[in-house]
Amino acid sequence: MVHNNTIQLPVEDMPTSWYNILPDLPSPLPPPMDPEEGPSRLKNLGNIFSKNILMQEAAEDKYITIPDEVRDLYIQSGRPRPLIRAKRLENELNTPAKLYYKAEFYSPTGSHKVNTAIAQAYYAKKEGYERMATETGAGQWGTALAYACSLLGLELTVYWVRAASSWKAERFRLMQLYGADVCASPSDRTEVGRKMLKEDPNHPGGLGIAISEAIEDVSTDEKAVYSLGSVLNHVLLHQTIIGLETKKQMELVDDYPDVVISCLGGGSNFGGLSIPFFKDRIKNGNDTKFLAAQSEVAPNLKGEYRYDFGDYAEQTPLLKMCTLGHREQIQPIKGDGLRYHAAAPIISALKAAGYIDTLIFPSDEEYVFQRAKKFVQTEGFLPAAESNYSIAAAIDEALECKNSGEEKTILFNISGHGFMDMHGFADVLELQ
Ligand SMILES: *Cc1c(COP(=O)(O)O)cnc(C)c1O
Repeated sequence: MVHNNTIQLPVEDMPTSWYNILPDLPSPLPPPMDPEEGPSRLKNLGNIFSKNILMQEAAEDKYITIPDEVRDLYIQSGRPRPLIRAKRLENELNTPAKLYYKAEFYSPTGSHKVNTAIAQAYYAKKEGYERMATETGAGQWGTALAYACSLLGLELTVYWVRAASSWKAERFRLMQLYGADVCASPSDRTEVGRKMLKEDPNHPGGLGIAISEAIEDVSTDEKAVYSLGSVLNHVLLHQTIIGLETKKQMELVDDYPDVVISCLGGGSNFGGLSIPFFKDRIKNGNDTKFLAAQSEVAPNLKGEYRYDFGDYAEQTPLLKMCTLGHREQIQPIKGDGLRYHAAAPIISALKAAGYIDTLIFPSDEEYVFQRAKKFVQTEGFLPAAESNYSIAAAIDEALECKNSGEEKTILFNISGHGFMDMHGFADVLELQ
């Protein structure tokens, strides 16, 4: 159904399977490995993840059926989400390009992360677990999993990077309202946390440290599983619902993207939108361009492609990723979700194979927030700080089309809304 500029997919046309790109990759994904020293991280995976999740991590089937209850919860969370043609923004930019954005901001907790949170909580519940534990950086992931655990009747412990938790009181309260047990990380609940606090009682924490805490937490509790909101193969698998819906929506208007754009931290929203389109590029050799928008403080796609840990304390297996190094200190920015030292193995492999371009924006964020302001004023939606990077990249592409006269079709993702993070806009744009 196409009303004006809004392309709605009827509920009955929502995809019934996720798409697994692993068997379609140009070459097999390098497997996770153990480091030469210390206990086996690979063997420990069985203690920290649910069985279904581990199976999906290395699945060989191209399509994996979305369980009925997950489908129902997707629908309850507002799926399928609209695809919107940004006609007003196009007019404002005076570009011959066609701009389309996927509206992941219509999410009950504010981001695309509910797509995998629902699936992960569902499998944990199905396998008899009573509690989940996770880390969160910007707070979007913690909120999404708190929502999913609440709906599915699971307890949740969230280790929240202290530097972010201290200035995001509203998100803290929302997670608590959903019933989650939230603590600032480093915390005194784990060995890793206590060690960091001993070094510095006001330690600001970091995503890698919070991951270490959550993993340590579940390793000692048989009734608890760990959950990660980005990076891993199963997370990207669940997120393909974004791109699969979008592909059907583009068919409804008889269009196909020349450029697919999104912001990239760990790679889950970028992968979610782009992976179904990568399939066409790999199979049919079309020339769709894929553009990842990143911050200068964490341009992980420009990092080395090598084996690295996913966390600070080296509790995860080694994954082959484009990485800045797992102990890299990353400067705070408003687009907090883009601060991760490495990109998902699937995305890293596609990058190494030459399929992905990157656009790196300056760390003061003035450039991306000014472009986001244009979007707010023409399209009317308030994006998450991370999504501003996606918007800025799309506007840059559209302005290039204005110069070259090309009528490209540009597709971009708006991964979340900014209602709980207005101070980002206030600080960067100096609003009163
Ligand atoms: C977490 C988050 C991101 C970045 O994470 P990816 O895994 O790279 O998608 C981007 N946007 C929003 C709104 C987020 O919550």
